[in-house]
Amino acid sequence: MPIRVLPPEVAAKIAAGEVVERPASVVKELVENALDAGAQSLHIEAAEGGRRLIRVLDDGCGVPSDEVELAFSRYSTSKLSRAADLERIRTLGFRGEALASIAAVSQVTLITRTPDEELGTLIRLEGGEVVRREGKGHPQGTAVTVENLFYNTPARRKFLRTASTERRHISALVTRYAMAYPEVRFTLIHDGRITFQTSGRGDLREVCINAYGLDVARELLALEEGGEGPITVSGLISPPSIHRATRDHLSFFVNRRWVQSRMLAYALEEAYHTLLPSGRHPIAVVELTLASTLLDVNVHPTKREVHFRDSSAAFRAVQRRVRSTLMKKSPIPGVKPSQQVESGRWKAVRGADLGGAQQLPLTAERSEDRRGLPPLRVIGQVGEAYIIAEGPEGVYLIDQHAAHERVLYEQLRDQQGDSDLVKQGLLSAQAVELTGEQKSTLEEYAEQLAGLGFELEPFGGQTVLIRALPVPLHDSNPARLLIRVLDDLATELKPLSGEKEARLITTVCKGGAIKAGQTLSTEEMRELIHQLEQTEMPRTCPHGRPTMIHLSQTQLEREFGRR
Ligand code: ADP
Ligand code: MG
Repeated sequence: MPIRVLPPEVAAKIAAGEVVERPASVVKELVENALDAGAQSLHIEAAEGGRRLIRVLDDGCGVPSDEVELAFSRYSTSKLSRAADLERIRTLGFRGEALASIAAVSQVTLITRTPDEELGTLIRLEGGEVVRREGKGHPQGTAVTVENLFYNTPARRKFLRTASTERRHISALVTRYAMAYPEVRFTLIHDGRITFQTSGRGDLREVCINAYGLDVARELLALEEGGEGPITVSGLISPPSIHRATRDHLSFFVNRRWVQSRMLAYALEEAYHTLLPSGRHPIAVVELTLASTLLDVNVHPTKREVHFRDSSAAFRAVQRRVRSTLMKKSPIPGVKPSQQVESGRWKAVRGADLGGAQQLPLTAERSEDRRGLPPLRVIGQVGEAYIIAEGPEGVYLIDQHAAHERVLYEQLRDQQGDSDLVKQGLLSAQAVELTGEQKSTLEEYAEQLAGLGFELEPFGGQTVLIRALPVPLHDSNPARLLIRVLDDLATELKPLSGEKEARLITTVCKGGAIKAGQTLSTEEMRELIHQLEQTEMPRTCPHGRPTMIHLSQTQLEREFGRR
């Protein structure tokens, strides 16, 4: 076939395919336009997951009557005029192709009025062609209605997912914009029912109540103020006690643009390292603010990705803010009042002392600086597994195994790499006979084991000689410890190379920590609590489980009917 320039309507459909992938992409572009127009209030409506109808109504600046046609032509925008403007984009839109793309694949009606005009304007396009235009009364602002998306591109229409899937995509998107713009009032209506609404009072935590529910939202920790050089980071993150099975609840905004970034997600999750059970993910709403010149937002037609000029600075900024917030503020899980205690079972629940929480101001941080433990006095041991201790704020029940794991973890981590310091020679070397699998695990981890302070020597066949152990573990039974560690390492999935050391340390801590079922003397319990007090993160074990639960003085009094 000879080369030909495509007819404009074909070119338009191809281009539209890049911007408009599904109903949620239409919602995204219309919402961005409304926000760029300075709207204070947005109504978003969808019918049948947006396939039949999408309507976005705003109270923004409106489009002047003589520009409405232009708004629908490709590469026409009011948001930039020179190539140099691309270097400092402050609006959400700038490519001037959204309305043209949407119009190419649907039936669009736009009604708009600027504050200077008496009468508004209505324009209707079908498949990109203007089919109607007239003056029409309208409050200031713009309403765009998109009907029968992909009606003229049957292949696209066929590949749309079910209405409920599309509905979920739309909800996720609107929720994100409401988080980025808490000062704007959002109302989302699906098939005639309000499913999400914000007040526009400018409070991110309040938006999170609407998105995640009161119980979760009030526990979220506000990120420490501040940033790294030119990048400021703010937002809300979940404490280690709240987590989810997927990364769907990590939201990042860069200069108020919702972005997808594996790099930022990784930075955030790194900061939670050892605080969450494996395979679980935090909830986070993180905003980065930086000069627009340090950013390239023109990476992708949907503008979902951004390039940072200095991406490692962005990585560090997120990781440090999140880490320091977690260290200062993560609360000790509390004991739920009444029912659980009455039924004789203490149950760890989220948040310290939930009683009375309803009255707490939602915007205030519930937990002050909670780094470190209060001084604790050991009272005794229960069930050969838990230490009961008393502190100024009530009673603590400490899981002896989890607490010791945390102590060992931090000691090993801090000594790592200092190979002379880390190991303590055994009085007499111990020979251990390994299975074939244990031996191959040993070979795989040989370097990391040595780095941690294990001195091991082949002794012919399947036997190895243990000559030294990491200092923090010198009390352990060397053979039992080594076998336990090798077996544990073998049962898990193969780690990525960078994760090997971290995996080994947590496994060694698990193997070396005192177990449930072990009777401890008062002296031993005191020593363990003392060591736990020295750790950076005393409240969770390295696998993210709590080391302790807390029953406050107030709760005790309430339970006994003293208040
Ligand atoms: P872009 O947002 O990239 O400029 P669009 O195709 O989305 O491109 O919109 C084209 C133009 O139409 C915008 O630059 C803006 O001037 C105008 N416009 C679109 N939607 C609205 C709205 N809701 N309120 C005011 N002006 C709008
Ligand atoms: Mg736009």
